[in-house]
Amino acid sequence: MSDTPGVLVIVDQLQGELRPITLELLGAARELAGKLGAGVGVQALVMGHKLGDMPQRLVWNGAHEVIVVDQPELAEYSTLTYRRASISVIDSMPKPPHIILCGATTIGRDLAPRIAAHYETGLTADCTELDIGEYEHKGKADPAKVGTYHNCLYAIRPSFGESLKARIIGPWKNPQMATARAGVMIPCGEDTARTGKITPFTVKFDKEDFISKVIETVRDVSSTVDLIKAKVIVSGGFGLGGADGFNVVRDLASVFKDSAVGASRKTVDSGWIPYAHQVGQTGKTVRPAIYIALGISGAIQHRVGMSQSATIIAVNKDEKAPIFQFAHYGIVGDLYEVAPILKEQFRESFATASVGAK
Ligand code: FAD
Repeated sequence: MSDTPGVLVIVDQLQGELRPITLELLGAARELAGKLGAGVGVQALVMGHKLGDMPQRLVWNGAHEVIVVDQPELAEYSTLTYRRASISVIDSMPKPPHIILCGATTIGRDLAPRIAAHYETGLTADCTELDIGEYEHKGKADPAKVGTYHNCLYAIRPSFGESLKARIIGPWKNPQMATARAGVMIPCGEDTARTGKITPFTVKFDKEDFISKVIETVRDVSSTVDLIKAKVIVSGGFGLGGADGFNVVRDLASVFKDSAVGASRKTVDSGWIPYAHQVGQTGKTVRPAIYIALGISGAIQHRVGMSQSATIIAVNKDEKAPIFQFAHYGIVGDLYEVAPILKEQFRESFATASVGAK
């Protein structure tokens, strides 16, 4: 294992499938490592069983070294076994990593605090940006910490209802830790010419690591809605007027290949569509090529989840709706009249369109 403290990415994989967040974290980690200086590398820690070519793929996607813990005890995610494996690997390193990154996913949100608590270090959750910088502590509050700290992790995340960006630091302890939202960081792209080291590691478990046991895993089918991967998202808001309104949304989405149906929180809270479809601050962050918002007002909490879409098309009957302030194309009208026309227009233009034609 490398003896220069670098950036460690905890890999998020589900039943042998790499989650996109891992590739995004590797992209962010490479940028951070570059800012930390020459010779600082990115390590990926992958835990599971029968991982196949995943370690190699992690190298192709940006890891300089992949530490592989492939044991039957890790076939299914469980807090205590994954905690034990992570800590055993980190403790075996000549020096702890400077930074540890996890996805702000169900697994990452469970595991990261366990690791942070073990090392008594800070953890910033749900970051949307990561950077490296300096911090000068003047010491009124805590004179013992007076000084200038270099190479601090700037863990940046929205706060106060997304109206402010907070830069959170914790340079007094290593590792510095953060979880990052899915769909926000940019992967560096798979390159089969990239080379790296693959280091197998065996964990010795304790009896107490098995005091809780996974008996059965039942996947919620609704959570398989892949908003993150979709190239076109058609989203419905409260302007739909009821759950049946989503038929219009689905109908428009059906003309595109790689499309998915999104929703505002108000429709989810009203029970019109499952939470897995929600876009926004407390839902998913997406960046498709086209985002079509039908009857969505464009509240800040929705906007933060979709404003990075390449093209935003909004349909709203209120010409003063906030969504028109940031949509690339705005149509003032009744969505029930406009959506079928849009569908026909897209269908006709597919002969020349470059995105999502079926
Ligand atoms: P509304 O604001 O009611 O807007 C409906 C729109 O439809 C209106 O603009 C109206 O003019 C238009 N309309 C009505 N009828 C038609 C028609 N026939 N044709 C065309 N247009 C029509 N929201 C999210 O979406 N995602 C989140 O993750 C999220 N997280 C939140 C977290 C917090 C802490 C809080 C406080 C709020 C959060 N919200 C979130 C809620 C958010 O503030 C808004 O309430 C919500 O986004 C509004 O949803 P909406 O646009 O569908 O509904």
